[in-house]
Amino acid sequence: MSDDDITSQGNFIRHIVEEDIAAGKHGGRVATRFPPEPNGYLHIGHAKSICLNFGIALDYQGSCNLRFDDTNPHKENIEYIEAIKADVYWLGFDWEERLFFASDYFEQLYDFAVELVKAGKAYVCDLTAEQTREYRGTLTEPGRESPYRGRSVEENLDLLARMRAGEFSDGERLLRAKIDMASPNINLRDPALYRIRHGVIHHQTGEAWCIYPMYDFTHPVSDALENITHSICTLEFADHRPLYDWVLDNVSVSCHPQQIEFSRLNLEYTVMSKRKLTELVDNGHVEGWDDPRMPTIAGMRRRGFTSSSVRDFCARIGVSKSENTVEMGVLENCIREDLNTNAARRMAVLHPLKVVITSYPDDSTEELEVANHPQDESMGTRSLVFTNELYIDRNDFMEEPVKGFKRLVGGGEVRLRNAYVVRCDEIIKDAHGEVIELHCSHDPATLGAKPEGRKVKGVIHWVSAHNAVTAEVRLYDRLFSHPAPDSAGEGKDFKDYLNPDSLKTLTDCCLEPELAKLAAGECVQFEREGYFCLDGKRSTPDAPVFNRTVTLRDSWARIERQLKG
Ligand code: ATP
Ligand code: MG
Repeated sequence: MSDDDITSQGNFIRHIVEEDIAAGKHGGRVATRFPPEPNGYLHIGHAKSICLNFGIALDYQGSCNLRFDDTNPHKENIEYIEAIKADVYWLGFDWEERLFFASDYFEQLYDFAVELVKAGKAYVCDLTAEQTREYRGTLTEPGRESPYRGRSVEENLDLLARMRAGEFSDGERLLRAKIDMASPNINLRDPALYRIRHGVIHHQTGEAWCIYPMYDFTHPVSDALENITHSICTLEFADHRPLYDWVLDNVSVSCHPQQIEFSRLNLEYTVMSKRKLTELVDNGHVEGWDDPRMPTIAGMRRRGFTSSSVRDFCARIGVSKSENTVEMGVLENCIREDLNTNAARRMAVLHPLKVVITSYPDDSTEELEVANHPQDESMGTRSLVFTNELYIDRNDFMEEPVKGFKRLVGGGEVRLRNAYVVRCDEIIKDAHGEVIELHCSHDPATLGAKPEGRKVKGVIHWVSAHNAVTAEVRLYDRLFSHPAPDSAGEGKDFKDYLNPDSLKTLTDCCLEPELAKLAAGECVQFEREGYFCLDGKRSTPDAPVFNRTVTLRDSWARIERQLKG
């Protein structure tokens, strides 16, 4: 099979794993890990990596560790650690007792560094950052050897110990691997192994260290110490693989995991780099990491995505080595399909217009038993109260209808969903000529869907004014107005493409009372409007806030098709 299989069930990484099991490599054992850096929240790209790593462990009776790659303490914090754990768990994966930190290995890493120095394979270098860059060479020119490369083992051991003891300032010295300054692979040109960082309190090790191991040294050693068999990462690390292997070949660990790279997930109309997402949060372009417009797991959860729809998405996009960008519609379809099957139907009027049913007795009420789902009877029924005052959506009425308008018009008839056919007899306006109320009469013989053969143009939803719940409803759109804000052209910043209409807030929406009982995050369909969930963060018992998870249909794809002709 090719590298481009489109289902996770048969991707090329799984084939490697299967071959390794069959060949008895690592004793037939499978151990993977998900290694986030706690410098931001997880996004949908991470979800792809999580599903892959935890999914392989589950399917091949292996194990998957959650390991924080925490070697950059000035960018990391506990909030991120807790958020990442919550997100992985929410996605449906369990690391059980296998929660690790690269900082758990700082002492061992240091010992391995000493080992490399003793073997003449690492040295302390005094070049400045700028000189180091100069000496490194370019893609077309080899580098030059540092004048400190020839230091004796004794001198290097002494300097390394003094680096650790805090005798030198930030940037004054580096510990570097002694590999090959002429290598065509720049990663092998005596890469840094340790740098000096004073004045940061590490979230795990406090002030115990003032030197920190570099990612390229830490990562292979951490994998080996955890007996990882398949070290799965994204394509940008392919050029680092020779260094990954060099480290493991030159320190005394017995396990040598195999690094395997796959292509990152890119999604249209959003950005996925943590640096850029951090910028959006820090500059207040969004309300936080869990803003429902963010491509973060926390944002998607707050928006109403289910974990199974995210896992489904990761399975559908597959795993390969080719760079590609997935359309937003693919993600939206996953949640839409899930909610179409599983979300209860409710009525909510987003732009209320008051209707008085003049033919219906003033203080009379009537309970209507209505289905929660049009296809799935097991979802049961609920009762709605019909009264002589109700709300319909302003957009469902036109005084002077345009051609093809099938809803309520002056003098016309419409069916109120699950209730009666009504006729608009009178239009009440305010001093500015704005329609503020409609007076209608109902036909008592038309309750429910009766009688058969009774012709009305349209069916609209409504909510009784008698017990409506008032709520704020937030309609979300794409965060960016360009499909690839990251690479949107010369001289442009990705933030130039922020969509000014990505959030539309509607206040004083009228909801059927059942919606007051919804749990935070639980999704329902507002009939004819889309799928919505209660925002656990902004809602109060007296002032519920609902987020639109996704529209009913893929209106975006339709617009794109029209644009393309
Ligand atoms: P960034 O470069 O934006 O900071 P990162 O890749 O450095 O992100 P990490 O926390 O190091 O973020 O990522 C943890 C794991 O998730 C890594 O193995 C990385 O390869 C993987 N990962 C990150 N982004 C994506 C993506 N868009 N698609 C698939 N896997 C990803
Ligand atoms: Mg990283």
